[in-house]
Amino acid sequence: MSGRTRARACPERTCVGCRTRAAKDDLLRTVAVGDECVPDPRGTLPGRGAYVHPDEACLDLAVRRRALPRALRVQGPLDVGGLREWVGQCKTPLPSESTAERHEEQEQQGIAR
Ligand SMILES: [Zn+2]
Repeated sequence: MSGRTRARACPERTCVGCRTRAAKDDLLRTVAVGDECVPDPRGTLPGRGAYVHPDEACLDLAVRRRALPRALRVQGPLDVGGLREWVGQCKTPLPSESTAERHEEQEQQGIAR
């Protein structure tokens, strides 16, 4: 592996919350606008971007570790209200698969003696 043109095929970024590397498409780009951290799902806003999973858990982690201001190279805390709202809205309903899984689990508990 000489690392040739790998970045072109599958760009990866690190989530500032859980620090896991993920495909750029799976992460939400955020940028600092004034003292606010705003979501940039289309990647069109200018400036430095920080990437985080569109997940409240990762956002909370990022906030607790002050990872966003650090990643975005800004002083002081950033308001993540808008970002939090965006993440909450983009939360998709549970796929039917996991609902079935949970149902199965309940059945097993019922059978258990
Ligand atoms: Zn994450």
